[in-house]
Amino acid sequence: MSDLKNLSTAELELRKEELEKQYNMYKMENIQLDMSRGKPGPEQLDLSHGLLRALSEEDVKATHNGDIRNYGQLDGIPEAKALFGELLGVQASNVFVGGNSSLSLMHDAVARAVLFGTGEGQTPWGKLPKVKFLCPSPGYDRHFAICELFNIDMIVVNMTAEGPDMDQVEALVANDETIKGIWCVPKYSNPSGVTYSNETVQRLAALKTKAEDFRIFWDNAYAFHHLTDTPDELADIFAACAQAGYPDRVYMFASTSKVTFPGAGISAFVSSEANLAYAKKQLSVQTIGYDKINQLRHVRFFEQIGGVGELMKQHAQLIKPKFDQVNRTLTEELGGKGIAEWSEPQGGYFISLDTLDGCAKRVVSLAREAGVILTGAGATFPYGKDPRDRNIRIAPTFPSVEELKKAMEVVSVCVELASVEKLLA
Ligand code: PLP
Repeated sequence: MSDLKNLSTAELELRKEELEKQYNMYKMENIQLDMSRGKPGPEQLDLSHGLLRALSEEDVKATHNGDIRNYGQLDGIPEAKALFGELLGVQASNVFVGGNSSLSLMHDAVARAVLFGTGEGQTPWGKLPKVKFLCPSPGYDRHFAICELFNIDMIVVNMTAEGPDMDQVEALVANDETIKGIWCVPKYSNPSGVTYSNETVQRLAALKTKAEDFRIFWDNAYAFHHLTDTPDELADIFAACAQAGYPDRVYMFASTSKVTFPGAGISAFVSSEANLAYAKKQLSVQTIGYDKINQLRHVRFFEQIGGVGELMKQHAQLIKPKFDQVNRTLTEELGGKGIAEWSEPQGGYFISLDTLDGCAKRVVSLAREAGVILTGAGATFPYGKDPRDRNIRIAPTFPSVEELKKAMEVVSVCVELASVEKLLA
């Protein structure tokens, strides 16, 4: 099929009729498929059943740290700090091990900055008339929700194949003191799958910001979630910042949510010594410590199975065919039609699909009516507003390959139908 934009009105009308017929047939199949969130599939969760048996009574009494059954150790047991240190390529001493969610660590980091400022003597952001964050988009909807909750204005920055558009970022932060932060998912980004280039990391580290207390929220959620044997490499942001003279610029976050069990994993907040010391003052009021039993359980489980890398390879074996299926169906159904582009990520949890401008909402709504629930159009942008109404986040991990094939056939018909409608309008 050739580019739809080259078809005459009569040809488009004809194609529309065919597509409507196909769409109505799908509707009669009573499909029910929820692809709205990036959740591991059940067979992925099975990989971590050993976690439930990883600890003995003796284990919890005899760690390097002694008996861990009681209160104490605000920043986590040494074994868990070492684990994240190794996984993230950072010093264990810079790791604070949190509870079951890195998102809640991010929420709390913003909350502390709003209430108390980012360090001794810094003005709490909540005391300022206006605070803004840069939001490379498409991005992660829950980052944007945190900004909304704390009344932080969001500025859209375009995503490129190398990460955020750094010309835009540099120009914005240079003259605006109210810009206090930027959200980054630097590896296998949600949803575009992009890993930031070395140049992007260097430029972020060296940013000349008007705000002295500017922070990079480095959400390394997909740091070890490779789909291939040739993982993307991400430069060391801490080293780059230290070299550029901004050792306190980065807050890094990560978790085992998509390694073991989402919602029952362990998380990490990584930052400079000064930032951690300041945060711990407030964190020590919030909690006496997080769940050390779960921390040790994760450490032991990973030892027993030969390391996180081994587990991630098994995850990849299960989900790579799903990513491939989405790509195959989209290529078969939409390739060469000039109406859609999609990412082919080397890792992470999402495929980002761009339609013609002004079609994403229509596609999501058509798909919903046919029983395929996608992430809401616009969700990948601040305030739920995609200025070009074209981005759709595809989450391929939860459904089976067969379900995905059907779902993507339905989505493809919806994309083409919405495009034909647009071209005829
Ligand atoms: N960060 C990103 C970029 C995510 O995509 C997700 C989940 O989808 C999270 C954080 C949530 O992590 P957690 O379960 O550790 O709160």
